Amino acid sequence: MSDIKSGARFESLAQAELTAITCTECSLCKNRTNVVFARGNPEAKLMLIGDGPGSSDDSSGKPFTGRAGLLLDRILESVNIDLEKDIYLCNIVKCRPPENRLPARDEIKSCRQYIDAQLEFVKPKLILLAGSTAMQAILQVKEPISRVRGKWFNFENDARVMAVFHPSYLLRNDSKEVGSPKWLMWQDIKAVRLALDNLH
Ligand code: SF4
Repeated sequence: MSDIKSGARFESLAQAELTAITCTECSLCKNRTNVVFARGNPEAKLMLIGDGPGSSDDSSGKPFTGRAGLLLDRILESVNIDLEKDIYLCNIVKCRPPENRLPARDEIKSCRQYIDAQLEFVKPKLILLAGSTAMQAILQVKEPISRVRGKWFNFENDARVMAVFHPSYLLRNDSKEVGSPKWLMWQDIKAVRLALDNLH
């Protein structure tokens, strides 16, 4: 299911993070302020994977800290997902692409070893892929995210995975009318809450 695996292996999540901090395996290292590895609980059953760090994330060293991140926090909190306890947040690439562009295929390939380590050591039961870059990297589907989102797919280690809209897309589409991206996200996050409850 997952393509372009790098084959690199780490002995622990901490070792993967330590390696990433000094990584120069792709050109994104040149302009970064910080490597943005993750935030949240590495023992959470829920993981959310986005595309790459934005400007605030690059400054803070934490993913999803800008306007899109604040919106994501509100969405998660609306269904009582505790940001410190219930979720682990990360991105497909750990260094900020310039001008907030999407990561390129070779950058995704170079960085793959870290997301593979995060999946291996966090062992989430539910995985959310925020936006089409994360969806394509993990699920290898070519369909538009609007057709794929909201559906659970089986994944490795008995996990299930769902694509959802990226919060930055939701910021650009403000309508909350029935059928709008924000309304669809609300349906998806309620399904995530239900799936989390059914894990216990
Ligand atoms: S984006 Fe990933 S592969 Fe590229 S330099 Fe940063 S940590 Fe290394």
